[in-house]
Amino acid sequence: MLLVPAQAQVTALVHATLIDGTGNPPLNDAAVVIEGETIRAVGPAASVTVPAGASTVDLSGKFLMPGIINLHAHVGLTKGVIPDASHHTRENIEADLRRYVAYGVTTVLSLGHDNETVLAIRDEQRRGKLAGARVYTAGTGFSVKNGYPLAIAPFVQGLAHEVADAAEAAAYVDSLAKMRVDVVKMWVDDNRGQLPKLTPEIWRAAIRQAHRHGLKVFAHLWDLEDARGLARDGLDVIAHSIRDREVDDALLAMLKKNNVTAVGTISRERSLFSYASGPEWLSDPFFTKGVTPEVLGEVTNGAFQKRQASDPNLDAHRRAFEMDVRNLKRLSDAGVRIAFGTDSGQPARFPGFFEHWEMELMVEAGLTPMQVIQSFSRNAAEALGAKSLGAIEPGKAADFVVLDRNPLSDIRNTRAIHAVYLAGREFR
Ligand SMILES: [Zn+2]
Repeated sequence: MLLVPAQAQVTALVHATLIDGTGNPPLNDAAVVIEGETIRAVGPAASVTVPAGASTVDLSGKFLMPGIINLHAHVGLTKGVIPDASHHTRENIEADLRRYVAYGVTTVLSLGHDNETVLAIRDEQRRGKLAGARVYTAGTGFSVKNGYPLAIAPFVQGLAHEVADAAEAAAYVDSLAKMRVDVVKMWVDDNRGQLPKLTPEIWRAAIRQAHRHGLKVFAHLWDLEDARGLARDGLDVIAHSIRDREVDDALLAMLKKNNVTAVGTISRERSLFSYASGPEWLSDPFFTKGVTPEVLGEVTNGAFQKRQASDPNLDAHRRAFEMDVRNLKRLSDAGVRIAFGTDSGQPARFPGFFEHWEMELMVEAGLTPMQVIQSFSRNAAEALGAKSLGAIEPGKAADFVVLDRNPLSDIRNTRAIHAVYLAGREFR
């Protein structure tokens, strides 16, 4: 008896306008051939050979862009608008991952409040059980004793670590490597001068040790001088932009020279004051379809909204947002690699919706829609070191979003989602 190996399913998506994520101009009337989970061929429909037996999907009039990669997310941290370490269950993590995909976010890097459950889900995904966005994780990130974030956010107790000195930092990075995290996350923030902060001596030891293990280091930071020191000392990714003052030419030159990527998370900054007077999208069905009536009530006129409206730091948050926006544009204009991130998954930063809001805010900041698309595709994949992701090209994972309207003419058209493909299959 002759055993015939099962053939991977072959699908050809034809006649869409392709935006491949590399920065190439859009290709009209394109064909993308998928075999199993992988893209096999891409090109003009007239010249790509579609294998016999392939199923064909006609996408005339549609637009195809890479799946969104979010380099700053948190999964399973929040229920409704209430964050708590006890919410970090398989059920909540998987629900967040499904929510992301429904909005076209096919990969997230969960940045620093994770435990072994996320690692277990990630490993199952890599063995083929992919039921939501691909998750990468920093495991449990670290800060300095009595520092940010634990000192101001006790709800992350158990999901944030603190070290006393350089030796402890290096040993802790060893333990993260042993857990097989994807990247290392650290917090370098004194909460506007109120808390102890990770010192250069400690971050140097951590970066050195992470690089010995082949792990990239992502830093939450706030101050320009810390960004300068971290960039000098080998930091890979700035996980939130600089918010204390405008970036200077010396820093821009150093970021480029040392190949440091910057993530803006401007929707995060905006969300710290926008609920006080109500963001304009509260009644947008694209938002409301993703939340329960209770959660909608909380952020519209409930306790969450009232708490924010009476926050004494509202003006400071507004200034931080404006600085973040200005710096994002300056970094982009200077040619620093900009990668996409939102800090969604924290309270009232809604997984999926916030990614589309971030894109809109990035365009308002002065980036082009093409630059925004590159930030969540090629640039994010490069910064993550995920070679199989980030572009609609042969050999890459078949993760993409089919849109009814052109995102290059209006970035808000990323919300006109016709279909999401994850690992070659339409996600429902
Ligand atoms: Zn975060």
